[in-house]
Amino acid sequence: MTRPDISFEFFPPRNIEATFRLWDTVQALSPLGPRFVSVTYGAGGTTRELTRDVVATLHKNSGLKVAAHLTCVDATREETLAIARQFKDAGVNDIVALRGDPPKGANGFTPHPEGFNSSIELIEALREAGDFTIRVGAYPDKHPEAPSATADVEYLKRKFDAGASEALTQFFFEAESFFRFRDECEKAGIDKPIVPGILPIENWKGARRFAEATGTKIPAWVIEAFEKAERDDRQDLLATAMCTELCNELLEGGVDKLHFYTLNRPELTRDVCYALGVTPDNKLENVA
Ligand code: FAD
Repeated sequence: MTRPDISFEFFPPRNIEATFRLWDTVQALSPLGPRFVSVTYGAGGTTRELTRDVVATLHKNSGLKVAAHLTCVDATREETLAIARQFKDAGVNDIVALRGDPPKGANGFTPHPEGFNSSIELIEALREAGDFTIRVGAYPDKHPEAPSATADVEYLKRKFDAGASEALTQFFFEAESFFRFRDECEKAGIDKPIVPGILPIENWKGARRFAEATGTKIPAWVIEAFEKAERDDRQDLLATAMCTELCNELLEGGVDKLHFYTLNRPELTRDVCYALGVTPDNKLENVA
């Protein structure tokens, strides 16, 4: 099995303590040589300036390739494209282009009257603006708003046709979910890379809530395993073993890239990467 290419997702910190935690996470994970790291854009566009600043700072100070998430929520087309231009001015040409989720409590996605109506419109506008590498979201267990799994894959195909060059998936619990999805994408004529999104489960209750909210299927055995691990205070052990096993199955099935949702905590992601043979690139001259 070859060493997979990895990438990491971070979110923008909202206070000083969280800022230090993000920087510690970046320091801990950057020696693993990620293909890129991405920075999320808060639901409802709530972290617009923060995302821009984190992206620019990471690009300038970390030496890593940085991708900025960008959504269509609560902004005019002009405002959204202005943010994209700011990313570019900061030296960041990689964008994860998303329709986005509405702010908490809002009922479904309502486009801004002068905003982009869909991720496809955003992707087209970014392609026209030129010079961006555009990644998009994909949903192995189906996006909750998609009428069917087939419709969801067809929609993903339209996102690629509009200008995306790679998709990063929502997390999932079983490799089978990803393989089924990959087969459907292939049948639909998608020939661009689809990179599995991997969530090392730091906090089971939070992960379960998130899975339920995003329509991610939770197998009964996972619920049972975490209940037992919680009882025995062995959650980290289970999470590391489960996540490593999932990644190994994906790699055995021909996957060569993994995108980790780090939640700004490096430990589990690092342990899983080590278990997969992804270790720091120690060159001889770096060894004391
Ligand atoms: P789309 O792919 O545009 O739509 C989702 C699904 O809904 C489609 O697959 C399709 O089946 C259906 N659909 C939507 N519109 C239509 C239509 N007009 N006609 C037919 N079907 C339609 N959210 C944030 O707020 N900030 C982030 O930084 C962020 N990062 C993410 C990163 C990744 C890798 C992923 C997978 C998700 C991320 N999200 C983020 C969550 C994302 O915003 C939500 O899942 C949102 O509900 C969908 O965004 P999208 O661009 O994937 O949507």
